[in-house]
Amino acid sequence: MSETLADRWQRVQDQVASACEDAGRSPDDVTTIVVTKFHPASLVRELHALGVRHVGENRHQDAAPKHQELTDLDLTWHFVGQLQSNKARAVAAYCEVIHSVDRPSLVEALAKYEGSVEVFLEVNLTSVPGRGGVEPGDLEALAEQTREAGNLRLRGLMAVAPQDEDAGRAFDRVLTYRENLLRVAPEATDLSLGMSGDFREAIARGATHLRIGTAITGKRPLPT
Ligand SMILES: *Cc1c(COP(=O)(O)O)cnc(C)c1O
Repeated sequence: MSETLADRWQRVQDQVASACEDAGRSPDDVTTIVVTKFHPASLVRELHALGVRHVGENRHQDAAPKHQELTDLDLTWHFVGQLQSNKARAVAAYCEVIHSVDRPSLVEALAKYEGSVEVFLEVNLTSVPGRGGVEPGDLEALAEQTREAGNLRLRGLMAVAPQDEDAGRAFDRVLTYRENLLRVAPEATDLSLGMSGDFREAIARGATHLRIGTAITGKRPLPT
């Protein structure tokens, strides 16, 4: 019998629970965001029926119509992809949390949004500048700018482990960056870390938000 969406969701929940137990943490302190990018709204509806309440998307042009189709569901939408400044306000209108804030121009654009938004600052863990994420040395200035905006609630740091490095080692660096961040933004304690392949390592390092796609949804359709 082939594995269903319900089977995969259950298995990931079990794995998250066991990783939390190993780390001496409560599963209640870890939010699993199911990344549904490229999948149709119907899959998000199925996930909701299984109990999923947090979904993640990475492209405004795909996410906006899906959100439109699903306004009857109590879902929290998270934006996890690179975000162009000219789309920032539109995204803030339906995503409660933006995980990929990585530059001053994006903070400026979000500051013009008339409501409040929760944000993570994405830090670049690769050695290549511009690979999505603020350079670690620029983090504190970006955090100060974010706090001064007034309508942005700074939750913490987000990062993606580089493909050519052990995820645990990469996540260890995030903990160092967080110490620096907390000096200017003591409230920014959350960590958005961990995807299908490395969420156990992320939980061991204190991740509060996991962004898990394929381990739950199965293979992604190709982007259109
Ligand atoms: C696609 C994506 C994920 C989920 O990746 P999987 O490997 O499918 O779990 C998580 N975070 C970001 C930023 C993504 O773009």
